[in-house]
Amino acid sequence: MPELPEVETVRRGLLPVLEGARIVRAEVNRPDLRWPFPENMAARLEGATVTALRRRSKYLLADLDTGETLLIHLGMSGRMQISGDVIGSFHHDHPAAQKHDHVVLDTEGGARITFNDARRFGAMDLMETAAQDQHWLIRDLGPEPLGNAFNEAHLIAAFKGKRSPVKTALLDQRIVSGLGNIYVCEALWRAGISPLRQAGRISAARVAKLVPIIRDVLSEAIEAGGSSLRDHRQASGELGYFQHTFRAYDREGSPCQTPDCTGKIHRKVQSGRSSFYCPACQR
Ligand SMILES: [Zn+2]
Repeated sequence: MPELPEVETVRRGLLPVLEGARIVRAEVNRPDLRWPFPENMAARLEGATVTALRRRSKYLLADLDTGETLLIHLGMSGRMQISGDVIGSFHHDHPAAQKHDHVVLDTEGGARITFNDARRFGAMDLMETAAQDQHWLIRDLGPEPLGNAFNEAHLIAAFKGKRSPVKTALLDQRIVSGLGNIYVCEALWRAGISPLRQAGRISAARVAKLVPIIRDVLSEAIEAGGSSLRDHRQASGELGYFQHTFRAYDREGSPCQTPDCTGKIHRKVQSGRSSFYCPACQR
């Protein structure tokens, strides 16, 4: 499932073809994905110019000159295919329509953006740009992990008295938005904090240390996505999934990579999701 860095990478890949572009044709091939599409979605998109393409948490937000914003969620398996546009030295002709191509947008400049989602956990919605903070998927989100509102004081206050495990607290989108299982595992491993520890029982100094670590883990993944984007997008025109290497996530049984640690990475299911951690150096 794409997490914040992957969504940010998709945003950066779409920017050159979508921002400032006028949508001349919108094709909507089914009434819904995870939830029903908004009424008359195709008609509301056709003729609109995308004035900005932003990201909030794991949602892409395309502001339109019609006063509406298009929200896009990639879900579990959503992919964006760009065609008809010159990317580096490659020109991708429009591919034949594929199964699961649910929404197709053609821009005035000749680019085509195809949203393909085999499992249909993705979503699209339209909202008034001025009222976007009240949208039901957005209104309860906590601060962006890479923004200024996510800082040491915020996290210390959010953890205070919390009895849930720190892993669960970091996945709580009201405390920090956009963090998912993979990057929480990586950040806790790097911070030397056990995912099982009660959030409220971690010293303020250690909680404070988590903030720059979370930022670093995400920033490094965004940077890796950027470089894979340059190769991958040029080769196929497809945006969505990139191979990253993780230090703790999905490494059950491997030697811990913390210097001087002789432990092995364990896997334990917490709230239905696998935590990967080193019991020797994560306390
Ligand atoms: Zn270790």
